[in-house]
Amino acid sequence: MARSFAQLARSAEKTSSSVAVPKKVLDTPPLQIHTMGDEALRVDARRIGKVDESVRDLVRDMLRSMYTARGIGLAAPQVGIHQQLLVIDLDPENSTTPPLVLINPEIVSASASLDTYEEGCLSIPGVYLNVVRPSAVQVGFRDEMGRPRTMKADGLMARCIQHEMDHLTGVLFVDRVTDASELSKELNDHGFQSSDVRSIP
Ligand code: ZN
Repeated sequence: MARSFAQLARSAEKTSSSVAVPKKVLDTPPLQIHTMGDEALRVDARRIGKVDESVRDLVRDMLRSMYTARGIGLAAPQVGIHQQLLVIDLDPENSTTPPLVLINPEIVSASASLDTYEEGCLSIPGVYLNVVRPSAVQVGFRDEMGRPRTMKADGLMARCIQHEMDHLTGVLFVDRVTDASELSKELNDHGFQSSDVRSIP
């Protein structure tokens, strides 16, 4: 049996993410992204109780702001909202891949093996530096419908999840950079202050 166009459209709607928004650059993003030096980035985020439509509205606005800034991940504290929520889309050029939403994420386990990888952050525009982190993680979280989930991630996804989760405890990737001279040079070159770095002991 062939399905009508209307049926196809309905079934596509059902399977696509309930928070997906067009992946495009807007003239005015709905949310402003704070940059390093702003105290908002250093505040602990609170757990989210009920995952309701207001949370999904925030997710949509975060996605719109992330796509506008041409990022692949954004955490709520970066837009001044101190809730444990982050969005990730490693495939922003592909309109059919749904974004990933992590609410109250927790690292369940991390690999002993470490990777060095160059990171950047929408809150520290222009700055790219090597950071060492576990190469794979298992993370537990709630999705945009409030359903409990766990996932295993490696490669860029593991990297992105760990970077975004740091934002939930007020940590920036530059805090983890071990090459102090590279760090201060790169920050100075892009108009940021080394004194705003809070090195991880
Ligand atoms: Zn970041």
